[in-house]
Amino acid sequence: MTRADSCLSCRKPVRSPARQAAIRSFLLSNVAARFYPRLFVFFHQIPLCVSCIERLPLLEGSLCQRCGQPAARKPTTLTPAPNPSAQPALPLCHDCIRFAPDDPLSANRSCLRYNQWGKEMIYLFKYRGDQRVADLLAGLLLLAYYRHYSGMSFQLVCCVPLHRHRLQQRGFNQSELLVRRFAHHTKLPVVPLLVRTKDTAKQSKQHSRRARLSGMEDAFCLQHDVLHALPPLLRSASRSCKTASAVPILTRILLIDDIFTTGATVRSCARTIRNHPLLEHAEVCSLTVFR
Ligand SMILES: [Zn+2]
Ligand SMILES: [Zn+2]
Repeated sequence: MTRADSCLSCRKPVRSPARQAAIRSFLLSNVAARFYPRLFVFFHQIPLCVSCIERLPLLEGSLCQRCGQPAARKPTTLTPAPNPSAQPALPLCHDCIRFAPDDPLSANRSCLRYNQWGKEMIYLFKYRGDQRVADLLAGLLLLAYYRHYSGMSFQLVCCVPLHRHRLQQRGFNQSELLVRRFAHHTKLPVVPLLVRTKDTAKQSKQHSRRARLSGMEDAFCLQHDVLHALPPLLRSASRSCKTASAVPILTRILLIDDIFTTGATVRSCARTIRNHPLLEHAEVCSLTVFR
């Protein structure tokens, strides 16, 4: 059996006579039927056997409407948010209530609970550069996208950038590898809106939540030159920016990363994007594999 034929997780053979039917039933119980054909092509090729696919720890149940955290993880933590507008109050977790109403992030949705298996996959992906894991994680991102964001029309997708020092050490940006696969499938334009200006300590070495949050402040800046390369909707507005009558534009931006821990990273990205006068009304959402 070659490496390509064995399950990335349990090493058993990936191919089996029951595979097609099992993937079909797994997908149809998790996404609307209209997304099944395109996801099937992807899932049929991912390096997991059927029993490992069926054991994936999907995030389910009632979720915090902002960050996508399941209520079951911390019972009774979903509370209607303070509601100054006429909008219906959304159930938010305690973490998100602390950010409301100035939270720069409109929503986060993730695919899987971050457990020991997730830690092993992230290790293989980030530190070994295993391309099979990249395919797997991109498939999981697509699953979460069709599950939670199918009704949203995003104008562009961008990744969380690495600092150039970290990029030199690692040789690739894991978030960018995921975005490329994701965008190839969804046909969303990829725009490198952000640069990382602060070489933050590894998140795994920053133990306190407070340290993670303050460590990410002003960690990114907007790449002003890419505003010219934005899709037509943004490009026309970006030209008008030079005039006094510049009008901030409404757009929906999707940020992609491998993991949402405290949300400090994606919130810092979202704040940087929305600090630009043209993008102050942009709706920035994030999509991650793990949560
Ligand atoms: Zn397996
Ligand atoms: Zn939340």
